Amino acid sequence: MDKTEGNLERVLTVADPLIAGHLESILSERGIHCHVRNRHLVGGAGEIPPLEAWPEIWVDAEDAAAARRLIDEVLEPTGAAAESWVCRGCGETIEGQFAQCWRCGEYPD
Ligand SMILES: [Zn+2]
Repeated sequence: MDKTEGNLERVLTVADPLIAGHLESILSERGIHCHVRNRHLVGGAGEIPPLEAWPEIWVDAEDAAAARRLIDEVLEPTGAAAESWVCRGCGETIEGQFAQCWRCGEYPD
């Protein structure tokens, strides 16, 4: 499904230009030069643009594998560690993946 063009390879098509911009800066930080196409969407707010109009991230073909790995890490919901919180009931520090204190049953603020 991914297209190639010259020495560039498309690694992602995403509906949200904000996500495309976010990924672009992460990839750039890792030294992967990328090109975002269709950055500016046409159409009204709340309108879902056709797939052809979605922002696309293209990278040099030699960086494509590394770029995909990075993108997977960023977009994988469980990949991001949630922040830990301190229980107001017992003062225990609870790891972010727990929605309730394992010690006293209190919930975070
Ligand atoms: Zn507690």
